Amino acid sequence: MSEKRDTSAQKVQEERRKRVKRIKNIIITIVIVCLLTPSICCVTLWIKVAKMERQLNEIERLQEDTSEKTESDENTVEALQEKKNDKVEDVASSEKDVQEELDHSKIKGKKVYLTFDDGPSKNTEKILDILKQYEIKATFFVIGKTDDFSQKMYKRIYEEGHTLAMHSYTHQYKTIYRSLKEYEKDITELSDLLYNITGERTKFIRFPGGSSNEVSNVDMKEIIRYTNREGYIYFDWNVINGDATGQKLTVKEMVNNVISGVDSYDTSIVLMHDCEGKELTVKSLPKIIKKLQKMETNILPINSTTTPIQHVKAESVK
Ligand SMILES: [Zn+2]
Repeated sequence: MSEKRDTSAQKVQEERRKRVKRIKNIIITIVIVCLLTPSICCVTLWIKVAKMERQLNEIERLQEDTSEKTESDENTVEALQEKKNDKVEDVASSEKDVQEELDHSKIKGKKVYLTFDDGPSKNTEKILDILKQYEIKATFFVIGKTDDFSQKMYKRIYEEGHTLAMHSYTHQYKTIYRSLKEYEKDITELSDLLYNITGERTKFIRFPGGSSNEVSNVDMKEIIRYTNREGYIYFDWNVINGDATGQKLTVKEMVNNVISGVDSYDTSIVLMHDCEGKELTVKSLPKIIKKLQKMETNILPINSTTTPIQHVKAESVK
């Protein structure tokens, strides 16, 4: 009986031991899990952080590369721009060189400047063709017109090496000589028109009626003071062909007027007209050129080295 009790007590004890062991195992497992989980998490996080760091570095490197490339692109653009500017400057300076070569004060012999006022018109085209044929450069004091043909003429004058100069936009004496403000407005409008067509501003002008005209309401000295201030150089004339005198001259008379005038001066600025109705001027031109060439005169376009003929001298107006 006591043996049986001992055995059952042993069984109970055994079972308790087993239970304790199970509980112990569970606790150990829980502890291990509790310890391992954060460690695993830590390691995983660490790996992730390391990976992200690598990616970040990569992005930074790419950004640096891009900005370096942009910078180098900008440098290239700048270099190209500089190169272009240099080229423009070169062209400008070579043009200047050419201009310097054509210093009219150094030219020996008679100088003749053929000038045409009041164009462009159909006659301008014919005159340009004649000048081209004889390889002569002249000066055109133009008025303001916006039609296609006139624009073509301004362009031709400029591109064929003649001097494109300003006369007046409207050529309306009453308006332009009403006040200095009106004159200013008129000449500025013409300057803008020609600038828009050729890309260049011309500083050469001729007052309608000349600097000594007596039709102006404004004292011409006031206008001259303005043109001096603006850097304009105005040209009157000392020789005329007579195509605007109101008399109907023959071609022969026109030719004689020019040749006898040129005979009297070392520097001649010849006033002619290329507006409509001046067909005889066109007709007389080849004869005039041939005679001038025979006289071995220098036929030149006005430039900044030309000694201006001025009825009222610019320097006399302070
Ligand atoms: Zn005129």
